[in-house]
Amino acid sequence: MHRSRNAIFSAACVLTTLFIGRVSAQTDPFAPAVTARLAQATMREYLELLSIPNDAIVPADIQKNTDWLERAFQQRGFITRQLANNGKPMLYAEWPKKLAGAKTVLYYMHLDGQPVVPAEWSQPNPWLPVVKQRDAVGQWHITSTEKLFAEPLDPELRVFARAASDDKGPIMMFLAAFDGLKAAGLDPAINVKVLLDSEEEKGSPSIPAVVKANKALLQADAIVIHDGPRHASERPTLIFGNRGVARVTLTVFGPRAPLHSGHYGNYVPNPAMRLAALLASMKDDDGRVTVAGYYERIQLSEAEKNILAATGEDETAIRKRVGIARAERVGATLQESIQYPSLNVRGMAAASIGDKASNIVPDKAIAEFDLRTTPEAPPEYLFGLIEAHVKKQGYTLIKDAPIEAERATHDKLAMLTLASGGRAMRTPLDAPLGQWAYGVLKREAQAGVEPVRIRMMGGSVPTDRLVEVLEAPFVILPLVNGDNNQHTYDENMRVGHYVDGIRTILGLLRTPLGP
Ligand SMILES: [Zn+2]
Repeated sequence: MHRSRNAIFSAACVLTTLFIGRVSAQTDPFAPAVTARLAQATMREYLELLSIPNDAIVPADIQKNTDWLERAFQQRGFITRQLANNGKPMLYAEWPKKLAGAKTVLYYMHLDGQPVVPAEWSQPNPWLPVVKQRDAVGQWHITSTEKLFAEPLDPELRVFARAASDDKGPIMMFLAAFDGLKAAGLDPAINVKVLLDSEEEKGSPSIPAVVKANKALLQADAIVIHDGPRHASERPTLIFGNRGVARVTLTVFGPRAPLHSGHYGNYVPNPAMRLAALLASMKDDDGRVTVAGYYERIQLSEAEKNILAATGEDETAIRKRVGIARAERVGATLQESIQYPSLNVRGMAAASIGDKASNIVPDKAIAEFDLRTTPEAPPEYLFGLIEAHVKKQGYTLIKDAPIEAERATHDKLAMLTLASGGRAMRTPLDAPLGQWAYGVLKREAQAGVEPVRIRMMGGSVPTDRLVEVLEAPFVILPLVNGDNNQHTYDENMRVGHYVDGIRTILGLLRTPLGP
């Protein structure tokens, strides 16, 4: 999952530190001391898995990962199948014991990883995992791998390798959880299916086709996605949705060709000025979109606003970090603001500036927007509103470069095009799936730690490709540390999070999902 790597490793992570070896296992078969041992028992496998390169640009490497994971799931009693995908098979695994009347949960994770630039890494090889420890001044140093097997297990150790967190760590936690069930003589309280994507880091281009081809096999009542980092506060995190993204291009036409600004300035309308005026008409001084109806379909209940406020971002620190004095006022908070569709100018172009500039009236000016969309305000709906707005400003919209008759008749000519990316997806916070996942996180969390519920993350991840085909609700339940450096050099997995993740997965597996 794409997410900024500079999430702040806050002091709050101390809260999630496990009291390894201190808690009695009498009442809970999966007390932290037990999950720490489950973690240690899978560490050799985890290190072996991390040493298989997994950039999907090399199909042979993906095949090796799929084969390795197929064996690992089979050894634990899963029925498996490799799902064909142009030489980069995905892995399907299913727990064979079926519980009549129980809900089926499909767990989605991915076995591929981002490319690497070995020279950037502070270890000999990103595909050869190392264990590191932080010194008093916060520097990481390679230490003995054997420390992973010491008693008690140090939660602050980290395993550094490509895919350590994104997303092989969660896959191994999942396998460790099944080891725990077996050791305790227990079975899951839900029916379990697993899909390991082989091209997630390439944008999951093949997921729709693979899921459609195996729809009956993958059919589930709910989808749980273990991917991405926890919220920056390091509290247990649950994400109920994500915005979609669409690209809109607005071209304002001027004279047929660029004209000498000395001969024609003050006479021929300048399309760059006209575009600027048009853009200025689309947002007010508070950053609120003024295109009629843009926010109309977004309704936030008081309960939802409270959950949004409870994520507890330090917005003073955020404004300081990004270097702005004042935020826009679309919502009361950052979390509330990203529940609305956005109208963001991602780039503008008209003639040239600097050394390449000439004194001209340009022939056209272009603005490109990325709209972040919501389930209530999909791309086509927002595009229709923008079209109506531009017309209201006196423009005639055309489908291509203007023809003579159009130039002769209309003063203001513009063109709008829409290209849709991923669609927004969201599961209601109070849906059975949400209540189930939140209930488990709350129960497993340290006393006094409130899980973070993200109603809808601002960015766009390709959940629509999975969710729309399977027609099942989803939640994203990230398990890894926020400062894991995924997608860049020195990706790592904090051992305490690995232990905690096993406990979370066990909690889910042992809790029936309601109707
Ligand atoms: Zn990922």
